[in-house]
Amino acid sequence: MSTPLIKLEDVNFYYNRGKPSEAHALKNINLEIERGGYVAFFGPSGCGKTTLTYLIGGIETENADEGHIFVNGRDLRGLSKKELAVYRQIGVGIIFQQFNLLPSLTVLDNVALPMAFLGVNVDRRRKEAMKLLDRFSMTKYAERFPSELSGGQQQRVSIARALANNPPIIIADEPLGNLDSENANKALEFLKELNEKDGRTIIMVTHESWSLRDAKTIFYLKDGEMIKKEQPEKKKVAQKTLSDHLYRNLFPEVTPERLMAHSLSYMLMRGFSGEEIKRFEMFLSKRLECIIDTPTFIDFLDSPFKDGGVGLWKQRAQKIALIAEDIVEKRKKIEDIYKDLEKDPETPLYEEVAKMRAWLLEDYKGLLSDIQIVRFDEAVEDRFRNIISPENFRQVLELSRTDFGVGLAPGTVRSVSERLETILTGKSYQVFN
Ligand code: ADP
Ligand code: MG
Repeated sequence: MSTPLIKLEDVNFYYNRGKPSEAHALKNINLEIERGGYVAFFGPSGCGKTTLTYLIGGIETENADEGHIFVNGRDLRGLSKKELAVYRQIGVGIIFQQFNLLPSLTVLDNVALPMAFLGVNVDRRRKEAMKLLDRFSMTKYAERFPSELSGGQQQRVSIARALANNPPIIIADEPLGNLDSENANKALEFLKELNEKDGRTIIMVTHESWSLRDAKTIFYLKDGEMIKKEQPEKKKVAQKTLSDHLYRNLFPEVTPERLMAHSLSYMLMRGFSGEEIKRFEMFLSKRLECIIDTPTFIDFLDSPFKDGGVGLWKQRAQKIALIAEDIVEKRKKIEDIYKDLEKDPETPLYEEVAKMRAWLLEDYKGLLSDIQIVRFDEAVEDRFRNIISPENFRQVLELSRTDFGVGLAPGTVRSVSERLETILTGKSYQVFN
């Protein structure tokens, strides 16, 4: 595998370290950005987005006293001052929310300025700058000053300037914040074009979800921590397979309830004869399909075998009935969810997922942190939507927190996964005995 273009390893960053005003702005950040990628840093104001771009842009590297910031395999923190200055000039182009244009320079000279740092002569600078302005349909404003332009126009100038030295990485820090929707759309189009046509690696920083539309990877930040990594394209593709998987691929007569009854019967009735298990399965199917109610179900379980029942002890019959009840209820929930998803695959599932979490973790003695909850819910939702396999689901739950996992113990992972799979597909329910 090729080295990622950008790789952060265990990066911590403090403002005013050791002073009463100390702010731990970035906490154990690990991330990788591929060459030619389009990623977003997404999160509320103050979560550390700008700080993160400063580090990647080589602006605050001397204070990043923990961790590594690799660009092209080289640690920025190992660069000399001079090397770092060169990297800032030709390695990255930053587009700021406030545009940061110099008010005393014309539009043309603003765009040409970064080339001056590289010692390009003035004629050549202006010629190249003019080409860039042309690309953004801004040539006729070349001799104006920034204050004579609209917000959208200033933004285009600032994008042109970021491109002046042909940097492979473009960082756009809240680039749409000061724009109306039309200009914001245009700016997004420019960024997309830079990514797709010019092969630039784009880092888009935003707190507004609508501006994430072109990002292939979204890193979620909260209070200085990277809490989630999402790849929306993969989600869309997977969603298409959802209904296929759940309905059409199953034989029409083999309902999820029957599958469920089948696998549950063998577990719940371990040690009984084949005949007894078969009969039990028939009643359990009927109960799961809501053809019979709970008291009737218990009656059948309880009645002697020769009278058409299963011949269980009363206590056992009741316990099993409770389990069946629980599953019927959860199963109904799931069906409602799938009906909604069939109608609109974008249906939010936050509430259902949160309820499901409570049930899945019923026997869990520990306490999950905010980040663990976010990731747990995300994994459950992805499983609902059939974006990930049962195997992936278990991996996410078990992976450590630094690897974007939940970090649960193997035993907990197994029991959670078994519960979830039983109500999703009717397979593998081994929690009960
Ligand atoms: P964002 O861009 O997501 O809004 P920032 O990276 O600007 O977040 O800020 C992250 C945290 O660091 C915030 O808590 C902020 O108050 C703090 N911070 C940012 N800049 C400074 C600074 N120059 N001095 C002290 N604290 C700062
Ligand atoms: Mg910011």
